[in-house]
Amino acid sequence: IEQLVWIRNDLRWQDNPALYFASLKGPIRVIVIATPKQWQEHHESGSKIGLRAGLIRCLFSKLVSLGIPADLIEVDRFKHIPDILCQYCQDNGIKHLWYNQDFPIHERQRDQAVKQALQAIHIEVHPQEPDLIVSRPVLSQQGTPFKVFTPFYKRWLTMLNEQSIEPLPIPKKQADALSEQPLTMIWQQPFRDDLWKPDQDKANQTLWQFCHRKEDLYDKQRDFPMTPGTSTLSPYLALGALGPRECVYAIAYVCNEQGRSWQDSIWLKELAWRDFYRQLMLHFPTLSKHKPFKPETDRIVWRDNKAERLAWQKGQTGFPIVDAAMRQLNQTGWMHNRLRMITASFFSKLLFADWHHGEQYFMSKLIDGEFAANNGGWQWSASTGCDAAPYFRVFNPTRQSERYDAKGEFIRRFVPELKSLDNKSIHNPSTDQRDALGYPNPIVDYKTARKAAIEAFDRLKNHH
Ligand code: FAD
Repeated sequence: IEQLVWIRNDLRWQDNPALYFASLKGPIRVIVIATPKQWQEHHESGSKIGLRAGLIRCLFSKLVSLGIPADLIEVDRFKHIPDILCQYCQDNGIKHLWYNQDFPIHERQRDQAVKQALQAIHIEVHPQEPDLIVSRPVLSQQGTPFKVFTPFYKRWLTMLNEQSIEPLPIPKKQADALSEQPLTMIWQQPFRDDLWKPDQDKANQTLWQFCHRKEDLYDKQRDFPMTPGTSTLSPYLALGALGPRECVYAIAYVCNEQGRSWQDSIWLKELAWRDFYRQLMLHFPTLSKHKPFKPETDRIVWRDNKAERLAWQKGQTGFPIVDAAMRQLNQTGWMHNRLRMITASFFSKLLFADWHHGEQYFMSKLIDGEFAANNGGWQWSASTGCDAAPYFRVFNPTRQSERYDAKGEFIRRFVPELKSLDNKSIHNPSTDQRDALGYPNPIVDYKTARKAAIEAFDRLKNHH
């Protein structure tokens, strides 16, 4: 076997360019390299690491059934990978290495180092297209990257129309099934496997069920945390157990069946945000270096009160919707998109806390934690980013709660101490109610905090 496929955040056998194209050249082997210390340094959550472990098991068991040998190796950090791969290739007579390109800067530096090391020992390296729906750079007519989503999306749709959306097939069975080797993963961690089964087939099943039953209602239901109106596929997409093009294919298939135009799908548009933020990483590497997209916002002096930050993390801010959301994150590793916007806006505007802390906390808890989307979402919320929320638009948590959790059902689920309150007062209990139920008073005054945040951004503008 001369072809080696190195699987990273693309833990799937279907629609995997590196796996498929390598298999066309001859028999393949697969390697996965675990880097627990590196994951820790990237603040990856235990949930995400746990799901990854499960998905590696699932992938390996499929590969051995296809007669494809697969090895799992563990090193501490990315920097150890070039040496280990050289050794592995030499020991196994490998002549070609295949992988799908990655986005954040450390990953790209890692891949560059691997390429150099392997080429030095005459092993050919074949990087394949990155995990995007439209993998070619989406550029304006002037050849520059888009900084605003809507024009990006228009161009992206045109490019999508010009390409095939058929997912790549599974590699062919290359030998009799091999026996399954036990995998040692001492870095494995617990996660909510009742919510996200570590199984690629399950991810696909959820995708098709969502497209058949909910995709057409997505626009109406997506903003209500108690309605299961979104796909909850993000953990699978983040680890690559599901490819984004498989989603497009399912959308197109179901829309055709139902006589709708798939290009108008609002869910497709949401998936385009994933591509948008990932492409931004490629065009603007400073984003991977803790820099805001709008450089002037680097001058903001955040208020950064540690006790307030901790209250936010624990879901003890005294704003029921914010607390319910943060407890959902802490308990499940996932948070509804509307709530991610509410809690991030609360953190960066009302607490006026440095968004980097919020970004890091999310990463350390999210099962779908993914650098580009998380950084993009945080910079959007903090108004420091590309096509971000205008700085003077500050979410009012109580209004958001009344609008998107009108009956307080979501709050009751995650803040059970407020269970007994009526549908109106549950959004903002009175002081007496709080005292009686042992629920904290609001840690900031909305109006004062909002005004202070807007003034801080105003000063920036005037100074500029
Ligand atoms: P659906 O609504 O079903 O959307 C389908 C898929 O599209 C998602 O699974 C996701 O892959 C992609 N997607 C949807 N919205 C966005 C978006 N705004 N940006 C990028 N991709 C998107 N998403 C992550 O995958 N990882 C993160 O670490 C992450 N951090 C976020 C932080 C903040 C502050 C905010 C505001 C958003 C963040 N998002 C992140 C985006 C979004 O909230 C989640 O993708 C979504 O809630 C996942 O639920 P779903 O799978 O049901 O989404």
